[in-house]
Amino acid sequence: MKTAIITGAARGIGLATTDILLANGWQVAMVDRDAKALADALETRTNVHGIDCDVSDEGSVKGMIAETLRHFGQIDALVNNAGVADFCPIEETDFVRWKTVMETNLDGVFLCTQAAIPALKKTKGAIVNIASISGLRASTLRVAYGTSKAAVIQLTLQQAVELGEYGIRANTVCPGPVRTKLAMAVHTQDIIDAYHDAIPLNRYGSEAEIGEVIAFLISEKASFVTGQTIAADGGFEATGVGLP
Ligand code: NAD
Repeated sequence: MKTAIITGAARGIGLATTDILLANGWQVAMVDRDAKALADALETRTNVHGIDCDVSDEGSVKGMIAETLRHFGQIDALVNNAGVADFCPIEETDFVRWKTVMETNLDGVFLCTQAAIPALKKTKGAIVNIASISGLRASTLRVAYGTSKAAVIQLTLQQAVELGEYGIRANTVCPGPVRTKLAMAVHTQDIIDAYHDAIPLNRYGSEAEIGEVIAFLISEKASFVTGQTIAADGGFEATGVGLP
């Protein structure tokens, strides 16, 4: 049985991706720093192992990789999904706010990937990093969030180029809006309405619609796909319209 690590697996897109991978015959290390949400998610699932870890903490990440290997013996895929959102104009974004976003969204992807590389080399494994359409377009509110996600897209390219010689693939998924806790904390009604108008499919996506793209990219079906940035966004990116 193949093993995937999914960070931010306790809820939202990470939890939906966990369920899709379980249905596809994977076993999953469910990683999250929200111990209560993680415990709830673990209760009803089998072939999973929960690991309480803050992806922005180097020691915590090294422990998480070691624990995954102790429990499952190998790592075939790493899904760097854990993220935080913060919509704030540049003049009001103080340095603490900026660093809080960068530490999880960018440093977390770097730390988890670096720690997993020795195990991924052994399996010729796959990495999927979750960025955002906010990493592809700028808006007045996304100075920290959008910049962190744009950096994740570049970090994925680095991973694909540097790790290709080991058979390791790396791709980015850029979700459009999905009604998770993260999004609904920052999407005002005006933003929601504007997204509905701007997205050609005229709706938000579901967690599972993002999870299916992730599942494809880590599967053998995508064995010649690496270094790609795939927007799962109902066509928003194709419109050329600015972010609400
Ligand atoms: P969510 O808030 O529902 O889930 C995120 C999970 O990550 C939570 O369980 C949280 O506890 C965990 N987490 C946050 N920081 C962590 C850390 N430092 N260490 C470990 N776990 C941590 O959010 P979601 O919408 O499912 O977001 C998943 C990913 O998708 C994020 O990277 C987000 O930026 C991205 N994304 C979401 C949307 C959207 O509209 N929901 C759009 C584009 C991109």
